[in-house]
Amino acid sequence: MMSGHSRTRFAGACAGLTLLATTACGADAGTGAAPEGTPQVVAAFYPLQWLTERVGGSDVQVTSLTTAGVEPHDLELGAHQMAQLEDAALTVYIKGVQPAVDEAVSPDTAFDAATAVETIPSGDHGHEEEAHGEGHEVSYDPHLWLDPSRFAAVATELGERLAAADPAHAQGFKDRAAATAASLTALDEQLAQGLAACTTRTMVTAHQAFGYLAERYKLKQVGITLDPESEPSPARLAEVAELAKREKVTTIFTEKLVSPKVAEVLAGEVGATTAVLDPLESAPSGDYESAMRDNLKTLQTALGCTP
Ligand SMILES: [Zn+2]
Repeated sequence: MMSGHSRTRFAGACAGLTLLATTACGADAGTGAAPEGTPQVVAAFYPLQWLTERVGGSDVQVTSLTTAGVEPHDLELGAHQMAQLEDAALTVYIKGVQPAVDEAVSPDTAFDAATAVETIPSGDHGHEEEAHGEGHEVSYDPHLWLDPSRFAAVATELGERLAAADPAHAQGFKDRAAATAASLTALDEQLAQGLAACTTRTMVTAHQAFGYLAERYKLKQVGITLDPESEPSPARLAEVAELAKREKVTTIFTEKLVSPKVAEVLAGEVGATTAVLDPLESAPSGDYESAMRDNLKTLQTALGCTP
């Protein structure tokens, strides 16, 4: 299905572009990076891009809807991105992260990674008046990539989807999916071991992104806000400060796409320091796995874990 659709589409494009046809649309793809007809796969934002590149290998061309350094939750799609979605043999996304993407994907050619895992309920501030805006518009927490064991399940399912869409390359997709899942399982074990014995298990985070990490490694997440863009109310700040003192929290976590101001004020109030914990909503300096290992080190220091 995938190869059929995209090759047909490609052939159509070539027929219309007679000048390019001789070079770009020749019978043999030649030495170019991606052979002609290589299926276009669109990933909604960074962790899904990383995963799709790993599992797809050279059998797909991966593009990301969210550019580096951009907070993905409030992504708006331009005409170029709508065209990318239209042409994609497969779109990999997580329903609930980006409303614009949720609306634009075509169910026939989309893989919602949330369907491959057991989700947990979305973060709940209880009595807060904070709006459920900025993408968190589903009843579950969509930040599932922050648990590598769940992400391994997504890798396996993605391999199946790609194989079904392009049977000629099925073995490659399945092999790479298995290798990626194994690598993510090893990462999961490293996190489990590294976070097994800690002085405190409470982590105060800038936004409520780490629910899956907390659930998987038996930590308690206290997100100052639900969404990266929302400002906490004074009541919420007082509540978190109280809790941080009570649970002897030494570090308030910030993230690189969120202003550290609130976390700094809070840290000052409770006598804690701040440290950056990466929710991986945009591309890190390394890759998904190295950033998760950096997160592990940050958590071990902050929570007083014995390595
Ligand atoms: Zn988020």
